[in-house]
Parts: sequence; structure tokens; C-alpha cells
Amino acid sequence: MKAVAVFPGKRQVRVIDAPEPELQAPTQVKVRTHEVGVCGTDKDIVSFTYGTPPPGLDYLILGHECLGEVVEVGPAVQGLQKGDWVVPRVRRPCPHALCPACRGGHPDFCITGDFTERGIKEAPGFCSEHFVEDVAYLHRVATELHDVAVLTEPLTIAEKALRQLDLIQERLPWRPVPGRAVVLGAGPVGQLGVLTLLRRGFATTVYSHSRKPNVKAEAAEAVGAPYLSTQDISPEELVRRAGAPDVIYEAAGTAKAAFEALKSLSPNGVFIFTGVPSKSEQMSLGGDDFLKQLVLNNQVLLGTVNAAASDFDAALEDLARFRARWPGGLERLITARHPPESFFDVVTGKAGGGIKHVITFT
Ligand SMILES: [Zn+2]
Ligand SMILES: [Zn+2]
Repeated sequence: MKAVAVFPGKRQVRVIDAPEPELQAPTQVKVRTHEVGVCGTDKDIVSFTYGTPPPGLDYLILGHECLGEVVEVGPAVQGLQKGDWVVPRVRRPCPHALCPACRGGHPDFCITGDFTERGIKEAPGFCSEHFVEDVAYLHRVATELHDVAVLTEPLTIAEKALRQLDLIQERLPWRPVPGRAVVLGAGPVGQLGVLTLLRRGFATTVYSHSRKPNVKAEAAEAVGAPYLSTQDISPEELVRRAGAPDVIYEAAGTAKAAFEALKSLSPNGVFIFTGVPSKSEQMSLGGDDFLKQLVLNNQVLLGTVNAAASDFDAALEDLARFRARWPGGLERLITARHPPESFFDVVTGKAGGGIKHVITFT
């Protein structure tokens, strides 16, 4: 079958003819891939800074943001049948008996680092005509969401982050009403963060590098989130215009801009980091001022990665809510669809800018 693979040893990325996967356990499901989203993690893998093939193989099949259709189910599979559309989770638990996260169904909080991730770390991805997966890692997608459900996986980042935000803010002796949020970065994770924050009632502003007009600003403003450029507006001016944010949702992966924006966080505020910096940035942090600000304002810095089963369920519910509230808003986030042969050009930006690019298998 056709698959897109990276060969780290040979420093190659290409379409290969991979062995057709077959069911090997009664709880497994065979899925025909429809769409695979491409993101910054793929970019890091094709530049060989990240990504590990499965043991014994010299290549890794790429792709971790997937939407597919069930074509075969094992005899012990319950809850899915042929013809259902599904989204798979990415991370699989580590083998260690003493990892409370993995043993408790939350490999997204694994403490050993020995988890695997499909399309990223030691497990084949989904950018292939078919894949096989245990039913426990698949989420059924309602028919009306088929054209946008490839956004489920990147949306789970926001779902997990905001679930934790709620838990953190339970520390406050009153029930906080959703206040102001600022989203740093306007790529797919930022845009989906915007929708998730707006849906929960936060007055949300996007604060990102590029100047208007651009498609990312248009997408944010179409759903009611004002867009400001870091090139025009200082963090101080941002606070004057939009008020001090109770939540800053960082989705740009740029350390310097993040720590600049942190200065605007309100008392009792939470700063959520979701972006993984891909380039190194020299910066000096006024350490004493930084600690003073955090301590004297009860502020929390939260890093968050990956997502659990409940976050996938929440993401699929939210996609339906977003679609009802902002018709066309999700579709606008999918810039273009491409054949597998274009994967390298898409991931390296040669196929154009925009928001989310998707590989399709037909
Ligand atoms: Zn991704
Ligand atoms: Zn673990």
C-alpha cells in the first residue's frame, strides 16, 4: 500500500510501497485513511530533529492527525462497525507497571518517557492507505462532521489544556466567570484554542506575529476574536486595549514572545504553553522580576502535551458546537487538500502558507 515515510538514517522523505497491515488481535480494527493533517511536529520529523522508526525498521510512516473509515473489525470489537468513520488517538502507554499515568489510562501524563506515538515515536503513523488499530484507541465520528474531523487531534490540545485550567482555578475561593483570554499564535492550534476559549465564554484576542491582512487574522476575526500583531502592538498596549488576560494560551512556540506576553497576565492568571519551539532563541529573563510577578500574583505556568480519550470525546462534541455557532468557521481553517506525493512540499511550506494543510487518500 502507498505510505509516506521518513528514513532518518538516509535523511529521506518519500512515498513508499509499505506492507498492507492485517488484523492481529480480535479487538483490532482495520481503517482506510481518508485524511491526514500536517503540522509542526511533522516539520520537525522531516528535518530529522525528531521522530523515531519502530524497532527493527529504518523508516517511520508519518502522520498523526487522521480521519479514516472502518473497513474490517475483529471478532471481539464492540462499538464500531464497517463503514463507521473514526479518529485515532496518537500516544500509546509505556510498558512499566509503576507508571501511574499509563496504568491509569492517561499516557498523555506518562512519567517514564517510554510511551510510543503513532507517526512520531517508534510506531507507524497514519499517512498510509490503511492502518490497523485497537478499538480502544479509536473514536467514532458523526457523519455531519466528516469534512472537518481531521481537526479533532489538534483540537484535543485545547481540550486538555482547558480541562486542566478548570482544575487549577478550583483553587480560587469563588467560582470564576470566564474572563479575558489572549491566544499567542494563529496557526491551527492557536485557532482551535480561540474557538474553544470563545465557546467557554472567554473574551478572546489573538496576538500573533504577522500583520493584517492575512488569512489567519481573517479566520480569527470571523469568529469574533480581534487580531493584533506583535509587530504593531506592545504587551502594554495589548493590556490597554483588551485588558489584562486571565488566561494566555501560547500556541506559537516562540519563547521570547511568550515571556514578553507573560508580563501582561492578570493576578491569579494562568499561562498555558502548548507550542514546542523548533528554533533556539537567545533571550535573557529578568529572573527576579519574573519570580516576583508569579509569586505576588498567584500565577500559574502550565505546560501541556498530547491528550487523553476524554479530550478526544470533548473535541468531537466541540466540533459539532463550533459548526452550529460559526458556520464555515472550521472549514476556513483547512487551507488546502493535497495528494500523498505532495507531503514533503506541504510540510516544508513549498505548497503555500495558510492554516491547516491536509493530505487525502482517495
Ligand atoms: Zn500535529
Ligand atoms: Zn508511562
